[in-house]
Amino acid sequence: MKNKLKQCEECTEKVYELYETDDGRQLCGDCFASDYLENFDESDDSWLDNPEEAKVVTPETKPVTIRLNVIDIQRAKKKAAEKNMPYQTFLKNP
Ligand SMILES: [Zn+2]
Repeated sequence: MKNKLKQCEECTEKVYELYETDDGRQLCGDCFASDYLENFDESDDSWLDNPEEAKVVTPETKPVTIRLNVIDIQRAKKKAAEKNMPYQTFLKNP
């Protein structure tokens, strides 16, 4: 099946892959990452016991470039460090 461009509900950018948030919005990688970090619940470690369930992104992986602002990257690195994992892995398995 051919990939079609879809529109992000947040920034209205047209992208090939959208990520669905917990509340059902379809966002581009940028918006999803920002949204995810904003709603990150540091006290909830339950996903660690069940990593498969925590995986939101599509099963196929491919290299993507996403632009994050430096504050988000710092926050991601800090939170990844608390989980004792590389921050790229942390972002891949939200
Ligand atoms: Zn977006």
